[in-house]
Amino acid sequence: MHYINHTTASIYNTNTEYNLPANTRLVSARYPVRVTDYYASLITKPDDAIWKQCMPDVRELEDFSQCPDPLDESALSPVPGLIHRYPDRVVLLVSNRCPVYCRFCMRKRLVGSGDAPMGDAELRAALHYIATHSDIHDVILSGGDPLMLDNESLQTILTGLRAIPHVTIIRIGTRVPVTLPSRITPELCALLSIFHPLYINTHFNHPDEITSDSTTACALLADAGIPMGNQTVLLKGVNDTVETMRRLMTGLLALRVRPYYLHQMDLVQGTAHFRTSVRTGLEIIRGLRGHISGLAIPHYVIDLPGGKGKVAILPDDVEIIGSTLLLRTYTGERVTYQDITDLPE
Ligand SMILES: *Cc1c(COP(=O)(O)O)cnc(C)c1O
Ligand code: SF4
Repeated sequence: MHYINHTTASIYNTNTEYNLPANTRLVSARYPVRVTDYYASLITKPDDAIWKQCMPDVRELEDFSQCPDPLDESALSPVPGLIHRYPDRVVLLVSNRCPVYCRFCMRKRLVGSGDAPMGDAELRAALHYIATHSDIHDVILSGGDPLMLDNESLQTILTGLRAIPHVTIIRIGTRVPVTLPSRITPELCALLSIFHPLYINTHFNHPDEITSDSTTACALLADAGIPMGNQTVLLKGVNDTVETMRRLMTGLLALRVRPYYLHQMDLVQGTAHFRTSVRTGLEIIRGLRGHISGLAIPHYVIDLPGGKGKVAILPDDVEIIGSTLLLRTYTGERVTYQDITDLPE
């Protein structure tokens, strides 16, 4: 497997522009730093929502409280590069590279390290595992970013998966529409559309990431018949207000991208300064539901430590007393609802 060729902005060469504290160089020794020219161009001022997501911060080195792999992904890996946690679906880690290394990344322990994409032998072993487990119906390409692979490598992987009859759905998780939208070309879309049903889950975190370039990228993918979802990570100081989330989620719908998950941040070492309280997340969901289109509301999920899986949580808007429900509406009104199918005989 091979990566595409592309160059990245050197944030240190342009030090005067970004004025990064010198000690952030220590961060990049531990956790790789990479920013595309495009993504850097979205920064309007130091410490804005784009800056916080991509620029190294010394606080990354000050967080020892957490674990590098809280989701126990390594333990759930039957063959290298494959995570098999749920009965009917697996994650295939095909790439270690991303256009931008997000400072809050849950695979911070992996991305950029070693950097090599999945090798041919590893791919063969993973395909063999999937082919011999007929319960697997859904394969999620992840990494790193799968779209950092060149078209030929993608074609090899997708052809291998489509040769397995019990694989129904293929998903690609990618932040390329957000961080390197020029990678989404008509050629790539034509290639992907051969392998339907193929879904893309992208990763927008802030309305400032919705630009004419990312809009064009999503339009190309949607026009290729690719259903798109979005996963957002709830990030302190970036998107942890109702107003920002409303703009983001409704903006995504206009791009034909359906909000899918809002993730409570995983307990990953080096990311503590981004973590918000679950209470904040629930208040945001409450501030969305009813106020904007239901199509724009993601599931708020906590991915439990130890590989126990994702749990969707909701604001506490129902109290059940026998067959009587005390409900809270989106405006805050309390309403009683009688569940007549649940009355005693
Ligand atoms: C999130 C995840 C999936 C996919 O879960 P869905 O809820 O189907 O999107 C599959 N495997 C692993 C290991 C995951 O973390
Ligand atoms: S694009 Fe995804 S995998 Fe890559 S650094 Fe960002 S969050 Fe991590």
